Amino acid sequence: MDSLLDVLLGWGRLGGVVLLLVAAALFGLCLFDYSTTGSYFIVVPGLAIALLVPALMLLVMGNPENRHFTLNTEESQGPSLSVPELMADMASRTRPFWVCTHCKMITGPGVCLKCDQSSTVYTVMDDEDLRMVLVALD
Ligand SMILES: [Zn+2]
Repeated sequence: MDSLLDVLLGWGRLGGVVLLLVAAALFGLCLFDYSTTGSYFIVVPGLAIALLVPALMLLVMGNPENRHFTLNTEESQGPSLSVPELMADMASRTRPFWVCTHCKMITGPGVCLKCDQSSTVYTVMDDEDLRMVLVALD
């Protein structure tokens, strides 16, 4: 089952359609069972719902083999600025502000909103702090 699911996941959207059809078939089986015998195995709709989740995920996300490696990385959470863009942003920003040198972005006080690190977050209050950030960015 796991390896079959892996194969379907590898198919991307097509795998999502297949999973959706299997889930629909299970729901149909469940309805058929209920209308003929008056009862059904609770496992059947449960399995259908369990299949529906990866099916919808596949349909929404497309081909996961291209994307699932980046889902949990910082890159997927928003574009990092290039250093010149960040410098322009910092120059025009009201102080104090906070910069994560790891993510190269303006972030929240004390801890980076993106990577959750505090060691890479610099508080910029004056030009000296700004120079520290620029050094750390290199
Ligand atoms: Zn960060």
